[in-house]
Amino acid sequence: MNRDMLTIFHRLPFLHQALICGFSALIVVALFLLPHPSQLYKQENNYQVGRQYPLEINAKALSPIEEKKPMVIMRWETHKVRSGESASVLFSRLGLSPSLLHNMVTSDPAINKQLSRLRPNDELVFGYDQQNNLIQLQRKISPYQTFKAVKSGDKFIAVTDKKDINVQLNYAQANISSSFWNAAIGAKLTPNQIMSIAGIFGWDIDFALDIRPNDNFKVLFEENIVEGEFVGYGRILAAQFTNQGQTFKAILDPKSGNYYDDKGRAMKKAFLRSPVDFRRVTSNFNPNRRHPVTGKVKAHRGTDYAAPVGTPIYAAGDGVVLKSGYNKFNGNYVFIKHSNIYITKYLHLQKRRVKGGQRVKQGQTIGTLGGTGRVTGPHLHYEFLVNHVHKNPRTVKLPEAKSLTGEKKKAFMQLAEKRLGELERYRILLTQ
Ligand SMILES: [Zn+2]
Repeated sequence: MNRDMLTIFHRLPFLHQALICGFSALIVVALFLLPHPSQLYKQENNYQVGRQYPLEINAKALSPIEEKKPMVIMRWETHKVRSGESASVLFSRLGLSPSLLHNMVTSDPAINKQLSRLRPNDELVFGYDQQNNLIQLQRKISPYQTFKAVKSGDKFIAVTDKKDINVQLNYAQANISSSFWNAAIGAKLTPNQIMSIAGIFGWDIDFALDIRPNDNFKVLFEENIVEGEFVGYGRILAAQFTNQGQTFKAILDPKSGNYYDDKGRAMKKAFLRSPVDFRRVTSNFNPNRRHPVTGKVKAHRGTDYAAPVGTPIYAAGDGVVLKSGYNKFNGNYVFIKHSNIYITKYLHLQKRRVKGGQRVKQGQTIGTLGGTGRVTGPHLHYEFLVNHVHKNPRTVKLPEAKSLTGEKKKAFMQLAEKRLGELERYRILLTQ
């Protein structure tokens, strides 16, 4: 003990000293009367197993404030819209009055818009109060958006509930053994994603005729997550495709929504490699094939795509229809002039969908595949002419693509490096 403290203590008057000693003694006694820590533990234990309930807890008082709002007890019913059913037919089927519907659709244009766009199998959720009055109607617009018509006084108001979408990245890769489609399905890609990849590379690769075994691809894409659950796929951020030993890279520029290669050149080019949806094509290119009618091997001046009659045929590039007609050799045919240099020809069509002189856009349907003219079976005969000379449309050198420049290019190149790095990291992760 501190000597100074002792000295001060002894200098105090006797009564003061006695009071201090008395209080100290009281404290010591009180300490002995308190339960031993092990007893406290035991009590707690008993409480947990439910033998003793030493304390009444008002659970309601502890719950968050928003749960204390006066609650309307509601009854919810879900109904599916039947084929051909309008809102008025649906309301009458459910025993709801036309005046109620009228009140709802005139309360708010947004409610009118929702209720006039019902489609078969749409699910509507009806909320009733205890007096059986409809006080809320819900329609799910998407996994993360619900439209609500909520009763407010005599009228209804429109509310759209939006949940936050979180985006996460995912990756897929595949080596092609039978077909691009099968490989992509095997890599768990959806039909939409597969068509997007074919679209991204459709100016460089003819997916109908150019794909070979051991071609391969990898793709980085978004997944949308709402409240921890997967709700759908987002954009393809980057992809790489190796076709017959040649590798093509594409990265999304989020500002424009367009894809560029790793040098900042646009993936979109003046001509599609294939004027037919690759999924429907059944034959391959054979430069030495015999003519279907004469049986002679002759230099084939175009590419044949065998596919079912009626398959849409697309304009390979923007242009003007030079001719749209019929003769006994070509059958129904369409010629398109794309500039002073390029002409594309489409033969043996079942139907022509464009007229001479008409402007067409790349990818626009100009007709359907058929077996008209001098053929043995339905196919598209496609020709690509450069300065009136026939070229192989799948190998011809096409006009240069537009490139990004300046600041835009600088920003894109940084992103491209990041994305291609991600592709590579995923590939390594997946092959480990
Ligand atoms: Zn042909």
